[in-house]
Amino acid sequence: MAFNFGPSIKTFNQIASDFIAGMGKPCELYYPPIEISCPNCTNGYIYLQGGPVPFTNNSPCPYCGGTNKIVTPETHETIYMMVYYNPKDFIKYQEFDAGIADGMVQTRGLISDASKVERISYAIIHNNVDGINQMRYVREGEMVPCGASLSQEFLQMWKRTG
Ligand SMILES: [Zn+2]
Repeated sequence: MAFNFGPSIKTFNQIASDFIAGMGKPCELYYPPIEISCPNCTNGYIYLQGGPVPFTNNSPCPYCGGTNKIVTPETHETIYMMVYYNPKDFIKYQEFDAGIADGMVQTRGLISDASKVERISYAIIHNNVDGINQMRYVREGEMVPCGASLSQEFLQMWKRTG
């Protein structure tokens, strides 16, 4: 008789994501502003053929105001992660045997959110005292997979910046 682990692992993964969705804390991820070259000019003053807003060369490009840059402001979104505030609750892994600084927290999130966390400039994580105060954190070190199914969850250490 052959064992088929597929369905069991799927069930476990579903439990893991239900757990994080139910017990996790909202964490707001902030993505840095994105700056691209203006699609309407070559240097702020020369029209780029095919650009959306034609203008007379040697005057400021109306699309970017003559800067040749288009900046998309900072954006943010909320995901749910388990947050461990007390170092004795941290799930240990090799990279952090060396030492944990004051005020660091550890989060445990779903791997489906990992690519989001990788792109942030900082995150707002609620504190554990009144749940109202918000503190700003940056990632400390790389994320590592965790959980019984390593493809399903990740750990990340964070240090406070404000
Ligand atoms: Zn322009």
